[in-house]
Amino acid sequence: MTTVRVKTDECTGCGDCVASCPVAAIEMRGGAACITDACTVCGICVTACPVEAIEMEHVAPAARPRESSSGVWVFAELRHGRLVGVARELMAKGRQLADRKGAALTALVFGADVAAPARELVALGADRVLGAEHLALELFHDDAYVDACLALAAGQRPEIMLCGGTVLGRAFFPRVAARLGTGLTADCTALEIDGESGILLQTRPAYGGNLLATIACPDRRPQMATVRPKVFPAGPPTRRAPGRS
Ligand code: SF4
Ligand code: SF4
Repeated sequence: MTTVRVKTDECTGCGDCVASCPVAAIEMRGGAACITDACTVCGICVTACPVEAIEMEHVAPAARPRESSSGVWVFAELRHGRLVGVARELMAKGRQLADRKGAALTALVFGADVAAPARELVALGADRVLGAEHLALELFHDDAYVDACLALAAGQRPEIMLCGGTVLGRAFFPRVAARLGTGLTADCTALEIDGESGILLQTRPAYGGNLLATIACPDRRPQMATVRPKVFPAGPPTRRAPGRS
């Protein structure tokens, strides 16, 4: 599998690549170029960059056999150090799915200081919180988020991974799916566990919104989905946040 990545430590922020991309798949974020999920891997920007800061990356996808994966993971997005609304909504849905499967619910949170949101995620039902804490994660950069997410998911093999369908989620979650060698269903409006197979049933609008399609991923793990804000209700805290009176 081939993807395109920006070497952010070498990017000067000149913007030449943005103008070169025929499908507007490059955005400037934090002074550096960022490849989004609209990229068709045509390679034009690789030669457009005057300092060779963009490269084609060849990765061998690490597909997960079904038997070796377990647990429901929710990526909990922060904005200015606080959980965004869709993170709370996904925690409530993730808790339901985990309970249905008799599995643990894990929250992922990335940022410069994740102690307070981690406590809140426990109060929202997480059995555990995996935090990646670094100054470089305070502002979103898709390479850093992809790497942090892969570093955690590659060793622990979750069965289900959910993320908000925000600008941030849409930019980095599909790259995580590609690197894990699995599929991703975007903009789901319903998520249920099939009673017989235990597979995640992912429902989303299709054909211009005229139909609802239910998609399953029977052979690859994790099963990955994004959900737009305000599709699911946010549940109340299930327990008191640790460290709070
Ligand atoms: S590889 Fe092609 S589609 Fe992808 S960001 Fe570069 S120019 Fe755009
Ligand atoms: S052309 Fe190269 S140096 Fe300029 S913004 Fe794009 S990646 Fe960065």
